[in-house]
Amino acid sequence: MSKQILVTGGTGYIGSHTVVELQNEGFNVVIVDDLSNSGIEVLDAIEKITGKRPAFEKFNLTDQDKTNAFFEKYPGIAAIVHFAAFKAVGESVEKPLEYYHNNLVSLMNLLRSMREHKIPDMVFSSSCTVYGQPEKLPVTEDTPRKPAESPYGNTKAVSEDIMRDFARATEGINCIALRYFNPIGAHPSALIGELPVGVPNNLVPFITQTAAGLRDELKIFGDDYNTPDGTAIRDYINVVDLAKAHVVAINRLLNNKQKASYEFFNIGTGEGYSVMQLVKAFIKVTGVNLKYSVVGRRAGDIEKIWADTSYANNELGWKAEKTLEETLKSAWEWEKHVRNIR
Ligand code: UDP
Repeated sequence: MSKQILVTGGTGYIGSHTVVELQNEGFNVVIVDDLSNSGIEVLDAIEKITGKRPAFEKFNLTDQDKTNAFFEKYPGIAAIVHFAAFKAVGESVEKPLEYYHNNLVSLMNLLRSMREHKIPDMVFSSSCTVYGQPEKLPVTEDTPRKPAESPYGNTKAVSEDIMRDFARATEGINCIALRYFNPIGAHPSALIGELPVGVPNNLVPFITQTAAGLRDELKIFGDDYNTPDGTAIRDYINVVDLAKAHVVAINRLLNNKQKASYEFFNIGTGEGYSVMQLVKAFIKVTGVNLKYSVVGRRAGDIEKIWADTSYANNELGWKAEKTLEETLKSAWEWEKHVRNIR
């Protein structure tokens, strides 16, 4: 019998791609999502891609009674991939309590349920935001964490600490945190992808929406950074590559290959690209004439970061495979699908 995996936040951007990869690997998936930042139609898209419709339950995991009832209803869950969380950096500055409550209480409810229902394994979505602006690049897992720039970033750091302490203290509980760099792109089918509500904060959705005519022009935040072309550098990872890292992490836990009760890995490509390089690559692969201008720096942005992925490569046997070009193309194909552009 195939193992059942709970994917929280499974209708969201990274969650939906991970559900697809888990189902492709033969896992049986049940999604919990409150649909606060995603739509139920994602289930149709997942079914279209994989031929299988995941089970779905709509509720918010901060509700302990509903969480308990869920685990009573699904007694066969073997492991959890936990994505469900608020993720808007700017909004977290405005609403810190909501962010701490939602992101931390849901994690603690899940961990308690794992203990009660003897579910040993969890993979958690963390972020390279925990490194802040590192002194030395690329960033390895030994790079020290820095105080978070935002309540959102702090929820990731505190979540890591909660998992580490709980896994250490609780026999039979193992957790892996994956520290994502910048996830971009969409599934090659163009049936699932990133769908931000309102004006996108992130670079690639803003680019594709501008290319689709929804926004007048892209504003590049700062060209006076200490980088070759003056624009900020990030490590942009294809969302399907990222989704596959979760499948590898789940298999590592299910097969008891973990080296410690709590582990964390950098999940990036190992390559840094500047905003300007990314914009030029987008224009080149899509042929779209993208309007852009340079404005001042955005508050809270760091200058440059990219991953040293050797630990993930060697220890997980996972590696990002897609090129930036095909990833940007997939983002554009998805935007065209959403906007009915041919
Ligand atoms: N960026 C930009 N214009 C935008 C959105 C983002 O120039 O409209 C830049 C941003 O300053 C950063 C990079 O693109 O240098 C990636 O930003 P994003 O918000 O996608 O991810 P972050 O690394 O901030 O989490």
